[in-house]
Amino acid sequence: MRDIYCKLLVIGAGPGGYVCAIRAGQLGIDTVIVDFAKPGGTCLNIGCIPSKALIHAADEFDAARNRALPNALGISAGAPQIDLAQTVEWKNSIVARLTGGVSDLLKRAKVKILAGQARFLDGKTVEVMTDTGPQILHAENVVIATGSAPAELPSLPFGGRVIASTEALALARIPESMVVVGGGYIGLELGTAFAKIGVTVTVIEAASRVLPQYDADLIRPVLRRLNELGVTVMTGAKVTGMNVKGALQIEGPDGDVRMKADTVLVAVGRRPVTDGWGREELVLEMDGPYLRVDDRCQTAMRGIYAIGDVTGGPMLAHRAMAQGELVAGVIAGHKVRWTKQAIPAVCFTDPEVVTAGLTPDQARDAGYKTKIGQFPLAANGRALTMQAGQGFVRVVARADNHLVLGIQAVGRGVSELSAAFGLALEMQARLEDIAATVHTHPTQGEALQEAAMTALGQALHI
Ligand code: FAD
Ligand code: NAD
Repeated sequence: MRDIYCKLLVIGAGPGGYVCAIRAGQLGIDTVIVDFAKPGGTCLNIGCIPSKALIHAADEFDAARNRALPNALGISAGAPQIDLAQTVEWKNSIVARLTGGVSDLLKRAKVKILAGQARFLDGKTVEVMTDTGPQILHAENVVIATGSAPAELPSLPFGGRVIASTEALALARIPESMVVVGGGYIGLELGTAFAKIGVTVTVIEAASRVLPQYDADLIRPVLRRLNELGVTVMTGAKVTGMNVKGALQIEGPDGDVRMKADTVLVAVGRRPVTDGWGREELVLEMDGPYLRVDDRCQTAMRGIYAIGDVTGGPMLAHRAMAQGELVAGVIAGHKVRWTKQAIPAVCFTDPEVVTAGLTPDQARDAGYKTKIGQFPLAANGRALTMQAGQGFVRVVARADNHLVLGIQAVGRGVSELSAAFGLALEMQARLEDIAATVHTHPTQGEALQEAAMTALGQALHI
């Protein structure tokens, strides 16, 4: 095979890599992208999209089940059934449509797609093991976007009944019971979905509360709903192993416990993929387990960049995408660097949780005197018409000049408000900017305006 010469080689076609390659192609940069899996990475194939598909199916099933019980809406229906194999097939069709779409976008941007495992021979040369043999590439710039993989617990290795999120999103049948180890994003999103389709779920979380990165007020409605769904949550607890009879051994706050479950989903975080691509051939600096990058996503070696999960947290698709777009600009010679005000995050639990910027505690720890406005969804007309009166929107601002430092929310469907939260922070809005913006009625978005008004002492609807 003839060697390939290019200006940019992107290793990994996840949200970081494919966005970088598309933008680079659009900017006229001669670009090659390589991945051994289908374009789209973890996010499209085994992460964001399949999990949200499963969550939607579980929500539909749960709503149908509630219709079979006496309910306030006066709607009645028979008990629903779910065929998980068909649900998984439907999820796969969405994934296929999106991964196919990414391939088309790459082709339209004139990016060459290469299937195979990439490995650095030196800082400018990469060998890709393709189906038809090794392919050598010479690149002026290389972007490492190799992403992350599920972290394994030494006491509970993957295999058999012990699965990671990838397998949980492709189950052939509904398990009777599931122990979820780790009450973080994956544990709670998938734990909630499985509980809704009838699985008996127990969540084992090592920290003193689930989703420990969020404050207790934000988590309260989530815990209430988990309780309603019959999910048992054990905090301050760790799995120490599985005995020969297949029972989990758990070290809990009140002593040791044994527990049996059909399926054990381990979701204790993800590790960056820093091996398998010839890191040892390079001289890169590390930031703990991650690749260290500067504010242009450049590593310690000139011409080698890294983006996405391999560079650390927050391990979110939209962070990876923003970094990918930035690096394409850097390689095109634009004077750009990372200056983002916030990376909003959503946990797709029931209800959903959104955080953008600083929480009240983080603002105080950063030395700010704050004004905080919180508006309950119970006072929002749209939320009530959707039976979604649980939760609130909260705005955190500087007391002196009212610059908005952070916005958080918990409530059904509030993930869609995250765009407004991110925009307010990126535009460096003041409380007065949000309060003076005409918000459409009746929408949950009005709760953001009301929260800003509340912080200003000018609340209208509470
Ligand atoms: P990845 O998407 O991991 O892509 C890396 C790619 O590199 C992979 O395709 C891999 O095959 C390839 N690769 C690795 N090594 C090589 C090599 N040597 N040669 C060739 N190719 C290689 N984030 C959100 O923002 N919102 C969500 O709702 C969300 N939900 C999630 C749900 C689940 C169950 C999981 C697991 C993750 C979720 N995430 C979510 C996180 C999100 O998927 C990641 O943050 C995102 O995919 C990171 O993008 P990336 O480009 O850095 O890496
Ligand atoms: P996570 O970091 O969100 O949660 C892991 C949880 O496991 C933590 O609460 C931690 O305290 C707990 N834990 C760690 N070791 C433990 C042990 N031995 N026993 C019991 N609990 C233990 O990680 P995750 O849920 O695996 O998700 C990985 C990453 O993927 C997330 O951090 C996030 O960046 C991304 N993700 C994002 C979304 C989203 O944006 N909606 C959804 C899923 C995943």
